[in-house]
Amino acid sequence: MLQDSSHATHPGERTRLAGLLFIISAPSGSGKSTLVHELRSVEKHLDFSVSNTTRSPRGSEEDGREYHFVARERFEQMIAEDELLEYAEVFGNYYGTARSALSESFAHGRDLLLDIDVQGAEQVRQRIPEAVSIFILPPAPEVLKMRLTNRSRAEGKVDESVIQCRLDKAQHEIENYHKYKYVLVNDVLERAVDELSAIVKAERYLHDGDDLNRPGVQKVLAIAESCQVSHSAERLRPVLGAFGVPISAEPAQI
Ligand code: ADP
Ligand code: 5GP
Repeated sequence: MLQDSSHATHPGERTRLAGLLFIISAPSGSGKSTLVHELRSVEKHLDFSVSNTTRSPRGSEEDGREYHFVARERFEQMIAEDELLEYAEVFGNYYGTARSALSESFAHGRDLLLDIDVQGAEQVRQRIPEAVSIFILPPAPEVLKMRLTNRSRAEGKVDESVIQCRLDKAQHEIENYHKYKYVLVNDVLERAVDELSAIVKAERYLHDGDDLNRPGVQKVLAIAESCQVSHSAERLRPVLGAFGVPISAEPAQI
C-alpha cells in the first residue's frame, strides 16, 4: 500500500496516496451531482469531499451536506493558513477542498471523490498526478439550458442571468475536456451511471492488483476503456461540435 502523505501537498510538490482519488468536473447543470449521488448508492467505500464555498445555499441544500457554507473572510483565512488542497473562484464565489478531506478518507480505507471545477482539477492534477479525472459532458447546449432552467424552477427561482452566465462558462470548461482521463456524456442517466460505476470499478481492480480474469472483470474494463478520452474522438465529436469545441489534438494528461 502506498504511503499517504496527502497532508504535504503544496504547490510544486507531488505526493502518492493510500487510496484512490477521483476528480469529477462538468459544466454546471450537466447532471454531475445527480450522477455522483447515483454512483455513491452503487459503489461503496467512496467518500464525497464536502467543499467549502462562499456562495449561499440553493434549494434544499444543507450546510455540511452539499457544502460547508462559509463567509468570505473565513475562506480567505483558510487560504492564508494553507488549509486548502485547491481552490478557485467560480461565478464570483470561492470554492475549495480542505486538505484534511484526503487524509480522513484514506485513514478509513476509503476512496475519495472531488466534485471540482476545471481550475481546481488542474491544481490537483499538478500535485497528485495519479488522481483519476473524469469529465462529464451534457449532450447538447439546448439540453444544458433546459436542465439549468428545470433545476432553477424546481428550486423556485428562475434567474435568466444566472442561467446565461452558467451557459457562457460551459464552453470554456468543455475546452478542457482533453485534460481528463475519462469523458462521459450524461444523456441517458442509467447509462452514464453504469459508465461511471465501471470507471470506479476498473480503477479499483487495477489499483488493488486484482485478478483481471475473474468473471465480469473484462466487461467492466472494456466499458471503462471506451470512456477514456484517448478512445473517444468519434463518440465525442458531435457533442463537442454542438458546443463549438474542436476535438483536441493534444494527448490526454493521464
Ligand atoms: P450539476 O450538479 O452538474 O450542476 P444537477 O445534478 O443539479 O447538475 O442536474 C441538473 C438538472 O438536470 C437536475 O434537475 C437533474 O435532475 C437533471 N438531470 C441530471 N441528469 C439528467 C439526465 N441524464 N437526464 C435528464 N435530466 C437530468
Ligand atoms: P455549484 O455552485 O453549481 O454547486 O458549483 C459551481 C462549480 O463549482 C461546479 O463546477 C463545481 O464543480 C465547482 N466546485 C464545487 N466545489 C468545488 C471545490 O471545492 N473546488 C473547486 N475548484 N470547484 C468546486
